[in-house]
Amino acid sequence: MEKIKCLIIGSGPAGFTAAIYAARADLQPIVYEGIEAGGQLTTTTDIDNFPGYPEGVNGRTLMDDLRRQAERFGTVVRAGIITDVDTSSRPFRVTADNEHLFEAETIIVATGASAKYLGLPSEQHFRGMGVSACATCDGFFYRKQDVAVVGGGDTACEEATYLASICRKVYLIVRKPYLRASKAMQERVAAMSNIEVLFEHNTVEVLGDDDGVTGVRVRNGEGKEYDIDIAGFFLAIGHHPNTELFAGKLEMDEAGYIITAPDSSRTSVEGIFAAGDCRDSHYRQAIVAAGSGCIAALDCERFLAAQKAKQ
Ligand code: NDP
Repeated sequence: MEKIKCLIIGSGPAGFTAAIYAARADLQPIVYEGIEAGGQLTTTTDIDNFPGYPEGVNGRTLMDDLRRQAERFGTVVRAGIITDVDTSSRPFRVTADNEHLFEAETIIVATGASAKYLGLPSEQHFRGMGVSACATCDGFFYRKQDVAVVGGGDTACEEATYLASICRKVYLIVRKPYLRASKAMQERVAAMSNIEVLFEHNTVEVLGDDDGVTGVRVRNGEGKEYDIDIAGFFLAIGHHPNTELFAGKLEMDEAGYIITAPDSSRTSVEGIFAAGDCRDSHYRQAIVAAGSGCIAALDCERFLAAQKAKQ
């Protein structure tokens, strides 16, 4: 059976930064990319706050750069999903894609987080047919048409601004009487004349036909319901951690974020480390995820060295 010294699950900034450090420390890391290769950054537009890019960088480019940097030192990147991990004994018995079994001496969990949906049946029905959680990926399909974005945070404002540059009109549906987004983001929204912010509005139903979304029914602060004609409905209401694989196996908080020891990436199971958004409900920034990937690789290296010294 294949034996892996350092398995890294996830291919976002945390996973690839961990891989760079692990590869340079000769841990021969294997990265399993997961469902969304490159992670959430591949679905964003330009990133202006990642250090080292004075002119900003496209999310996909940044992830390609990180991947190439990890590969330069010998990281092996595999397309595939880890479907089971037996955490009861070390080395850990791991299953990839429900069929490939191997053993891992250490694991760095960098599985990130995913977009949340409202949970409306009509929203599910029209997913991929006008309902999307990624304006950068799907905005193109609604060029010169009217669309709506749900949410009042930085993501919602960023998505609305992006869509406003290609669509005719953007409705920003915000449940509170104010935006939670940073001042800079709010100013960007205010500067776009084709964004209409609907404060104290909730989505009742996504409307459509066989061809996809045609509108959305909203309820305003007075409880009055009315319909808006749109072709695209975008969710930007936050994220949940992708940690289901470790449910009941690693200690987590009530929202499912993996708990790590203070100032460390150590999880509740010796030999398993966590990095990035799967353990961070607070900062959720690419640079923070990258930093925590570095920490996880250093912790992993020290753990393996200590194990070797015991032998
Ligand atoms: P947030 O959690 O910050 O915001 C989520 C928004 O969705 C809130 O306005 C919330 O409303 C709303 N919401 C949540 N659930 C529902 C629901 N069921 N119905 C309607 N509205 C709902 O998530 P973001 O993804 O916006 O941001 C996450 C983190 O990433 C933040 O720290 C943010 O600063 C950061 N970020 C930074 C960017 C940048 O600097 N370029 C870009 C994007 C994100 P309410 O306010 O009522 O809770």
